[in-house]
Amino acid sequence: MKISAQEKPAGKREKRNTNTEKNARRLELIQKRLDAGPLSERFPQVSSITIHIVHYYGTTGPVFMEQTVNMVPSSNVYLLHMQCMGGKCINGGFDLTSSVEELVRNNKKSGKGKMVCGEKDAYGASNHASICYDISIKY
Ligand SMILES: [Zn+2]
Repeated sequence: MKISAQEKPAGKREKRNTNTEKNARRLELIQKRLDAGPLSERFPQVSSITIHIVHYYGTTGPVFMEQTVNMVPSSNVYLLHMQCMGGKCINGGFDLTSSVEELVRNNKKSGKGKMVCGEKDAYGASNHASICYDISIKY
């Protein structure tokens, strides 16, 4: 069977482009993690961080899930980025880096706060999540 020289490469090229896009997004995320580096590099005085997070549906909705993140000096600092649990949310999320930074700067052992997804205006607040967090730091 002879396959037309024009058709086959065209089809292949299209498939490859889709995969390339997906891979590019995946690589971007891996790159962000690599760029973030270990906790010890960003916060050398910290020996451990424990963060308890409660995720809520929307900005005022019921509890979606709870999670605890434990970090040691070798942990990737990118763990401080939490995903938004909103169904349609792609680029949003919660970045606790600045909250931790502030606690460390003030030599504080704990801190609490609330956060709404940074992309909440993208599809309406109901398609995003919010969190309550409780951070404990050991020096
Ligand atoms: Zn979101």
